[in-house]
Amino acid sequence: MSAPSPSTPRQRTCRACGKKFDYPVKGSAATRHHCEDCVVVPPETRKILERLNQRVTQLERQLASQSRRQPSDPAPPAR
Ligand SMILES: [Zn+2]
Repeated sequence: MSAPSPSTPRQRTCRACGKKFDYPVKGSAATRHHCEDCVVVPPETRKILERLNQRVTQLERQLASQSRRQPSDPAPPAR
């Protein structure tokens, strides 16, 4: 099967909730930076969501680098 439409929507990541969504999609209210769930959220609230999402992304990155540093965590002696 081949992609018939020449203008394929790009996949984007929502800045507020981190959800992956396609943009542009006909009939969807989503914008370039926000999915259609978050586009209806008031701007002040969305700002907070974006901040939280930034922290989550940061924490995820930290966790990923930590688990990479210790691929096989040696179990502590159970004594
Ligand atoms: Zn969203």
